[in-house]
Amino acid sequence: MNRRKTGQGRRSAKPARTPGGDPWLFTPGPLTTSAGVKRAMLHDLGSRDEEFIALTRRLRERLVALVRGGKSHVCVPLQGSGTYAVEAMIGTLLPRDGRLLNLVNGAYGRRITQICESLGRAVTVIEAPENQPVDPAAVGAALADDPSITHVSVVHCETTSGVMNPVAKIAAVVAKHRRSLLVDAMSTLGAVPIDAGGWPVDAIAASANKCLEGVPGVSFCIVRHSALAGCAGNSHSLSLDLHAQWQGLEGNGQWRFTPPVQVLLALDRALDELDREGGVAARGRRYRENCRIVVRGMRKLGFRTFLADQDQGPIIVTFHVPAGIDYDFERFYDGLRKRGYIIYPGKVTKADTFRIGCIGRIGAAQMRGLLAAVGALA
Ligand SMILES: *Cc1c(COP(=O)(O)O)cnc(C)c1O
Repeated sequence: MNRRKTGQGRRSAKPARTPGGDPWLFTPGPLTTSAGVKRAMLHDLGSRDEEFIALTRRLRERLVALVRGGKSHVCVPLQGSGTYAVEAMIGTLLPRDGRLLNLVNGAYGRRITQICESLGRAVTVIEAPENQPVDPAAVGAALADDPSITHVSVVHCETTSGVMNPVAKIAAVVAKHRRSLLVDAMSTLGAVPIDAGGWPVDAIAASANKCLEGVPGVSFCIVRHSALAGCAGNSHSLSLDLHAQWQGLEGNGQWRFTPPVQVLLALDRALDELDREGGVAARGRRYRENCRIVVRGMRKLGFRTFLADQDQGPIIVTFHVPAGIDYDFERFYDGLRKRGYIIYPGKVTKADTFRIGCIGRIGAAQMRGLLAAVGALA
């Protein structure tokens, strides 16, 4: 396609590109990764070879350390995207006669309800509006009311809107009522501090391709050892059985089924780069700055955020589609795409919105470049 003939480029016909020659991704994963992460995949490894067994062991230890799991927690990696880990976590941790209290304020919380329904596990739902955090006080009341509830689940950052949920406060309430907490930390791990031992949390599900800035293809659960030890036979599934996966890894260090070796090499490199950046605190700072730049800039251009500032997490920002003008998301999206910037459609149910992600190998320059492109289209 001849970009000069599109009639969109008042400023420049040359689109922005990453060092790898791709458009910049403002999406919540898969996202823009570094050259080093991509390069790390240019190897073949035998899955039974000692080098690969050592890689798996190192990755498992590094991921536990990221959530300060120390000696209390173990990491069980799993082939597949993040939802595989969430489904494995629910299916393995929640006994067949258990009941989950699921705290919902977006699509990923609703997905946990769907998982329970699909697996035939009892679930009670507390649903908050999509522009509000879930309320820890409501959790205490529900747990006091219903002794059949064994576990509670919550999404750390609900990527549907970008809202942060108060997981530390919820963890304290769940512990006080002597129940077990399961957290979907898919879009926070690596950029928002998580204290699995201190909060406390029994299981955390996450994946390689969000704030860790790895590539898609592996997910994992970080689980309290004492909770996981009692989970043999809970799972409905052979391949999504975290207890069996853990036993396999502890036994001979090998994965039960073909591991995504290149994806794991990329994740190891991505964790090196996280360390080099200064760890979770530094990465969180970069993302918060990305978020601040895009919120300020978009407001200057007349866009409104879906969330109040105090509920906005640093991961992704939801903007209202401007009212009153003839606005067509497809055209807006295509205009940005032609300039080298890929944004994300909206996902909240009750408002017309779009989203801009702040995560991945992007910084202030890319956020400003995106704003200039939006300004040229608006
Ligand atoms: C990305 C994400 C998931 C997993 O989605 P996949 O498409 O399976 O990777 C789950 N929960 C949250 C909060 C997410 O952001």
